[in-house]
Amino acid sequence: MSTRTNSSASAPAVRPRVVPAGLPDPAPAQNTSSLPVPTLPLRDTRARPLRDLRISVTDRCNFRCTYCMPREVFDQNHEFLPHAQLLTFEEITQFARVAVAAGVRKLRLTGGEPLLRKNIERLVEMLARLETPEGKPVQVALTTNGTLLRKKAQALRDAGLSRVTVSLDALDPVIFARMSDSTIQVADVLSGIDTAAAVGLAPVKVNMVVRKGVNDSQILPMADYFRHTGHVVRFIEFMDVGNTNGWNLAEVLTGRQILDRIHDRFPLKQLDAAYRGEVAARWGFADGAGEIGIITSVSQPFCGDCTRLRLSPEGRLFLCLFASRGHDIRTLLRSGATDAQVLHQLAGVWSPRDDHYSELRGQATVMPDKIEMSYIGG
Ligand code: SAM
Ligand code: SF4
Ligand code: SF4
Repeated sequence: MSTRTNSSASAPAVRPRVVPAGLPDPAPAQNTSSLPVPTLPLRDTRARPLRDLRISVTDRCNFRCTYCMPREVFDQNHEFLPHAQLLTFEEITQFARVAVAAGVRKLRLTGGEPLLRKNIERLVEMLARLETPEGKPVQVALTTNGTLLRKKAQALRDAGLSRVTVSLDALDPVIFARMSDSTIQVADVLSGIDTAAAVGLAPVKVNMVVRKGVNDSQILPMADYFRHTGHVVRFIEFMDVGNTNGWNLAEVLTGRQILDRIHDRFPLKQLDAAYRGEVAARWGFADGAGEIGIITSVSQPFCGDCTRLRLSPEGRLFLCLFASRGHDIRTLLRSGATDAQVLHQLAGVWSPRDDHYSELRGQATVMPDKIEMSYIGG
C-alpha cells in the first residue's frame, strides 16, 4: 500500500505537477467513410461499457479543501488554466452528443467548482436537449460544494438539470472551516441544499469525505441531521487522488468502520444497488428514516463495474481517476471534425482501456504522477 506522506504543513520544495502531460495530439481528422463503424455501445478490454461521462468545466474553486486543493500548493502562484484553453460549451456539447451515441446515459458536471463557470446553466440546457439513440432524455447531474446553489438552483432546474450532489464534510462550523479551508459558512451550504430541494432537485445526495482524526466526529451528526429529509448522505473513504493532498493510509476510516459507527446508533439494513455500477453501497435506516451510501474506493475497489470516462476542462479524456495521462480531444473538436470523426477518436481511446487502479493500489506498477481531483472532478 502506498503511504506517500508529502506533508501538507509546509510548502514542497518542488511544486508538484497539477496539470498532467497529455498524450501526443491526435492525427488530423481523417475521412471516416472508409473506416469500420465502431460497435456500440463501446466496450473496453474488460467488457465495461461506456455509460457515464464526467465533465470538468473548470479547475478553479472557492474552497481549498485540504484533501483536494491544499492552499500551500493552490496558492496565489498557482497557474490555473486560461479561459481560452477551456472547451467551449459548443465543444463540450458536441463531444457529449457523440459520447451519448456511443453508450453514455449520464452526464455529470464537476470541477473544480462547476458553479463558478459563467453561464453554466446554458451548458446544462444544451446537454439536457441530447437524446439517446432510443429517443430518451439523458440525465444531467452536477456535483458542487453548494456555496452558489441557493442563487443558481432555480436556473439550473429550469435549464433541465436532473439531480445535484452537494459536498459537505461537517456540520460543526470549526471542523467545516478546517476541512474546506474557507470562510464560507455551513449555513450557506445547507440553504443551498434546501433551495435545490424546493425547486425540485430532491432528493439531494450529500457527499462527506471522511478523514480520520479530522472530521470523523461528524459522521453521526451528519447521519442524524439528514434522517427524515429524503436526502442521502454518502460517506466517502479519503482517497489517494492526485499528488498534493498528503494522503496517508492512517487517515482512512474504512467504509466498514463508518458503517459500524452509524449502525451502533441508528441500526441499518443493506439495500440493493439501484443500478449496475452504482458507486455507493446503499444502506437504509431500519426505522425507515431514509438511507445512506458508503463509497469504499480504497478498502473495496469497484473497478470491475467502472463505466466512467472523464473530460478535463481543456479537453483531455481520462480513463481513470488515477490516470496520469490524458488523450487530447480538443484539437479534433477545434478542427471542425464531424461527429463520425469524433466517434472514431473516442472508440480509439475507450476500446483499449484496461484501467483498474484501485485494484492495483499499493503495487509497484502504480503511477506516481496522478491527475488532481480539482482538475478532473470526482
Ligand atoms: N467542487 C465540487 C465539490 O466539491 O462537490 C466538485 C468537484 S470535487 C473534486 C468532487 C468530489 O470529490 C467532492 O465530493 C469531493 O468531496 C470529492 N473528493 C475530492 N478529493 C477527494 C479525496 N481525496 N478523497 C475522496 N473524495 C474526494
Ligand atoms: Fe473545491 Fe470540491 Fe476540491 Fe473542495 S473538493 S477544493 S470544493 S473542488
Ligand atoms: Fe474506475 Fe479508475 Fe476508480 Fe477503478 S480506480 S473505479 S477504473 S476510476
